[in-house]
Amino acid sequence: MEKNRVSIPQVETLLQQKKLSSYFDLISRPIVTNLIRDELNQIREEKLFDLSFDKIVQRCENRCAKVYKMRVHQVINCTGVVVHTNLGRSPISKASWQAATNLNTHYCSLEFNLESGKRGQRNSLVEQLLATLTESEAALVVNNNAAAIYLILSTFAKRKEVVVSRGELVQIGGGFRIPSILKESQAKLVEVGTTNITTVDDYKEALNEKSVAILKVHRSNFALRGFTDEVSTKELSELLDENKLLIVDQGSGVLEADLPGEQKVKEHIKMGADLVSFSCDKALGSVQAGAIVGSKKLIDKLIKSPLYRVLRPGKTVLTLLEEDLINHLNKVDPPVLSLIKKEKEKVKEDSEKLIAFLNSEKFSLVESKITLGGGTTPDENLDSYAVKINSTKSANTVMKILRNQQVPIIGFIEKGKVHLNLATLLEGELELLSTSLDKIKELL
Ligand SMILES: *Cc1c(COP(=O)(O)O)cnc(C)c1O
Repeated sequence: MEKNRVSIPQVETLLQQKKLSSYFDLISRPIVTNLIRDELNQIREEKLFDLSFDKIVQRCENRCAKVYKMRVHQVINCTGVVVHTNLGRSPISKASWQAATNLNTHYCSLEFNLESGKRGQRNSLVEQLLATLTESEAALVVNNNAAAIYLILSTFAKRKEVVVSRGELVQIGGGFRIPSILKESQAKLVEVGTTNITTVDDYKEALNEKSVAILKVHRSNFALRGFTDEVSTKELSELLDENKLLIVDQGSGVLEADLPGEQKVKEHIKMGADLVSFSCDKALGSVQAGAIVGSKKLIDKLIKSPLYRVLRPGKTVLTLLEEDLINHLNKVDPPVLSLIKKEKEKVKEDSEKLIAFLNSEKFSLVESKITLGGGTTPDENLDSYAVKINSTKSANTVMKILRNQQVPIIGFIEKGKVHLNLATLLEGELELLSTSLDKIKELL
């Protein structure tokens, strides 16, 4: 027993092993130390005293590798979903990132008016840019779209009635449920219509002196098919009198692009919405933020709310957004829009190039679809191509092998086979994908 105990190495000794010290930069020395301690404790508890030194190092390394995987990693998106909520939604334009670098790594005039030399207003130009892009009077930026709706409802609808169609009481992604947001902001939800049909009369009947607003929500991540009807922003606007608000959760932030199933933010404004909210990291293709555009009087009230102080974004978000919005105004597409507009022939060409390079019968070209995703354009797909992997291994095993690459490759499974859609490849990623697959093609 005594002898066996001695065989367990010291933490310090293990920390000097290259295999483990190489994780210092990746997850920090204290975390590596803790993981080694945890492993040694487990070895003691399970009385695994005859493990060799190398085995122990290996077990510690496995723990480090597992924790390292918890970090945010670059991945290659081959899912065919352009705005993928699990993969960081929209990639940010490299040019914007570069432009924002100096602002973020130096002091900047975030709340300093360079004209007067006095304290200034945060996000003043961003507001002008957003207002111009959406043809609105005013705009405001918060941390995400959920925060935008929460701020609007908390400010204008606390303990008052808000009318929402039953067909729009949706859950979008993880944990964003329209009824919960209403509850959290202490607004009283009045449901109207049915799941598939809501008419102008349904809204009319529900409106009374206690109601303060109609909230219209873009159904985003699911589509209603068949016998359905809903009321347009224009009809709702005509229904409401001066002192009731029409709030639209537009969702995707489509500004100029014509995307199937999507209505542009400015169209809602034109049709009479008082406030429109949307995400900035979906079709708008920028950073995570939520925008509110519309009536200046209402937005001034939102800015004065103490909640706004809680929900406002920092300089990193604002500087990147500023850059991206200027690009939008100058008709320069963000990466997500370039991807969605990529010719399907180009995707076919890239796929054929990859297949030729890999020179293996395991890979073949098939027709496929892409979707904008991210809770946008539900059910609206665009024709595309994909590379099918004909493996004898199970699809889940193949997916796992792909995930285990230095830069993980994320594909999708269809009819039991793994597919890689190259439509969502960004600059330089075809080469990366090719060399990576070439190394593992025998394994697949
Ligand atoms: C995506 C989405 C949200 C949530 O937006 P976040 O920016 O993730 O907070 C809310 N409403 C709609 C309609 C959406 O599409």
